Amino acid sequence: MNENQIKKPIGIIGAMDEEVSLLKGSASARLAETVAGMEFFTGELGDTPVVIVKCGIGKVNAGICTQILISRFQPAAIINTGVAGSLNADIDIGDIVVSTEAVQHDFNVSEIGVARGEIPPTGRVAFPADSSLCRMASEAVHLVSPEIHVFEGRICSGDQFISSRRQKEAIIQAFGGLCCEMEGAAIAQVCYLNETPFVILRAISDKADESSEVSFAEFCETSAHRCAAIVKAMISSME
Ligand code: SAH
Repeated sequence: MNENQIKKPIGIIGAMDEEVSLLKGSASARLAETVAGMEFFTGELGDTPVVIVKCGIGKVNAGICTQILISRFQPAAIINTGVAGSLNADIDIGDIVVSTEAVQHDFNVSEIGVARGEIPPTGRVAFPADSSLCRMASEAVHLVSPEIHVFEGRICSGDQFISSRRQKEAIIQAFGGLCCEMEGAAIAQVCYLNETPFVILRAISDKADESSEVSFAEFCETSAHRCAAIVKAMISSME
């Protein structure tokens, strides 16, 4: 078998156990490698080889993990699955957000003349997701659970759990966006730098306001599993 005949895997990253456990089970995943304390599991969803990894919370963990995943496994694409806080009154707990692009809402060098959120030296505020992955993700939601509402748009990431109206409004005012979380845009930046297509899928666990703490505790697991089920359907339908 020559190199072209070996199918490249799809990389799947989640921050927490709840976000990757179902996928690991479905893919009959085996531990392939541990790097920087992160365990990379390989398996198959349908006919598609996958590498599944829990990166931990926040942008640094997510960035390290994405680079290791790309360097060691050369994935054809990366999917980030998980939960998020809603930034939009129309987007409720359990709804799905699919990224068209991702920004780092806590990145700010504007005092010295760089646009708010712009990451030097890329010259970019937002890192664009792959449009066909985006379409496949939305189609997977319609196929698996047509009753679930799905929204496509910008995802805002930062190293903060957003749990007040004040924090939430500040993000909306500066960046807009449909939901906030803590890893997606770091994964997006690393994918952009490596020319690896990516998409972020998030199921809403809370409203990113004063109710977040209680709501996150109550809905984290069910929302994480819902998102994983959609990722599974999406990948299983790939040729
Ligand atoms: N309980 C975890 C910490 C969870 S932090 C622990 O102890 O390890 C919240 C996680 O859910 C992050 O991975 C983030 O991406 C996502 N998230 C959900 N709601 C969020 C919100 N309102 N603000 C920021 N991140 C949120």
